[in-house]
Amino acid sequence: MNQVQVKSHFRSELAIIPAVARVIAVLGFLLMQICLLGLLPHFERDIPPMPFLVLISLVGGAVLAIIILMIGYVNADSKRRGMNALLWTLLVIFVPKALGFIAYFLLRKPLLIPCPNCGTEVGSDFRYCPKCGHALTPSCSHCGRSISRDYVCCPYCGKPVRAAAATS
Ligand SMILES: [Zn+2]
Ligand SMILES: [Zn+2]
Repeated sequence: MNQVQVKSHFRSELAIIPAVARVIAVLGFLLMQICLLGLLPHFERDIPPMPFLVLISLVGGAVLAIIILMIGYVNADSKRRGMNALLWTLLVIFVPKALGFIAYFLLRKPLLIPCPNCGTEVGSDFRYCPKCGHALTPSCSHCGRSISRDYVCCPYCGKPVRAAAATS
């Protein structure tokens, strides 16, 4: 059950990879085969035996394709999180040893969520929608701290907050 959920989450994450990145990934894979299997034997005499060359070429092509798909993922994912997509895409391309990818997955912002009132994408830490002013997390009418919608009493000041939470 849990594994199925993880799988479907993984698939929905893959679905955000832009079509252009998928096309480039396929082209990259094919280019690797053409270079290693098609061109290299014509220019280089001292090549590994053919079965090895095929293996190197397939694995290398697959790795290249996966890297291109991951760059596409970072581009789309940073965009939907309200981050600088161009900057992060360039970082993951040019920072060596996958450090750009590691930095991205450590530093990426939480996903934006739609405002329940107007549908504007808002940060998960926002308390009010910047477009319509809707209170995204209700606050205690006594002490002003943000509380969960289903709280009956404020956990900070102890006053009953049901009415305040319901109206916001
Ligand atoms: Zn709104
Ligand atoms: Zn309170």
